[in-house]
Amino acid sequence: MAIDIFDKYASIEDRHRALLGIGGDPFGVKVDRIISATEALIDGRHTILVGTNNYLGLTFQPECVAAAKAALDTDGTGTTGSRIANGTYDRHTSLEAAFARFFNRQKAIVFTTGYQANLATICGLAGPDDFILADADSHASIWDGTRLSPAETVVFRHNDPEHLDRRLTRLEGKGQCKLVIVEGLYSMLGDTAPLAEFVEVKKKHGAWLMVDEAHSFGVYGAHGRGVAEAQGVEEDVDFIVGTFSKSLGASGGFAVANHPKFDLLRLASRPYMFSASPSPATMASVAEALHQIELRPELRTRIWANAEQLHSGLAALGFHLSAPLSPIIAIRMPDEATAVMAWNRLIESGVYVNLALPGGTPNGACLLRCSVSAAHEPAQIATVLGRFAALASELDSRRQAA
Ligand code: PMP
Repeated sequence: MAIDIFDKYASIEDRHRALLGIGGDPFGVKVDRIISATEALIDGRHTILVGTNNYLGLTFQPECVAAAKAALDTDGTGTTGSRIANGTYDRHTSLEAAFARFFNRQKAIVFTTGYQANLATICGLAGPDDFILADADSHASIWDGTRLSPAETVVFRHNDPEHLDRRLTRLEGKGQCKLVIVEGLYSMLGDTAPLAEFVEVKKKHGAWLMVDEAHSFGVYGAHGRGVAEAQGVEEDVDFIVGTFSKSLGASGGFAVANHPKFDLLRLASRPYMFSASPSPATMASVAEALHQIELRPELRTRIWANAEQLHSGLAALGFHLSAPLSPIIAIRMPDEATAVMAWNRLIESGVYVNLALPGGTPNGACLLRCSVSAAHEPAQIATVLGRFAALASELDSRRQAA
């Protein structure tokens, strides 16, 4: 008998089955109907969304929706291929110009997902005789980019510039270029990178620095350019990568740089060359969303006020929060079973958050991960806190009973 090709996933299947024994499927939530940036009908229940990464709430922004509709009419539903094969539309060029202008950089490239943006940038920049130095808590798309690159990857401890310094010292005289990769705001715990310190280390060793601002773009910095802007170190960050799928309310990705030869990635990076370019409707809504970010700084004021309300409210309820204030608020749960039970209580009470378990989290953490939006009303956050209060008392009674 041939071995079943899915046998290798037996442990994943078992773990998933155990999880389904506790309640609903946290990794297969079916949205009956999306109502707005902050609400949906899930399992027939009106639900407040607190786990969408829709930071600025622009998914239903009338100007963005109108721009996407108009692009469908003029340019059709898809580009049906990569730009190498099918050419570059005006929309590609103008959107890249808009990103370059937004970041005050010479160069920008857009991609079809943020995941692809990381793959393309990392494997395009780091060649056979180079080294990649990646933060231990990096996102999967960063690790996958390192796997596509022929460069050797060296890991340094999360948010530890001193450890990076030691790693780079050991590599002195070896290889050609050193590419350091960190994120601005980390997606699971909601902690930010000490970029100014990383910049010092990169300068000392003549390395290159790439920052993934997927979660910080639109939220951090006086103009929403991310943590590099907030920490005043943009000049010393060589490459910034980001996504359309969070603050920009669509799907796709971008990379910006000042290097005059950055466009060479278009001829050297396989994820760029061999995948279809973003659709016209996506590019149109993103161009409008960028405009909205420039036009409406109050979106940032609002998301920070909402983050403060949820963060301080959860802290007051006695939850163990994983990081200081940010729009990502992750609550640490003592173990997987409790985390799954708690996630179920919340969804049953009409609150959607992300369940994040070991395998997808740093250091085996079990998390209820919330992300706040500028589109949340303070009253919605108050309702969410009410549901968390009920959860806190249930967790308390269980602890006492144990
Ligand atoms: N980088 C980081 C840090 C992310 O968290 C994500 C996705 N959550 C990505 C890149 C990939 O972006 P996308 O989902 O747009 O492909």
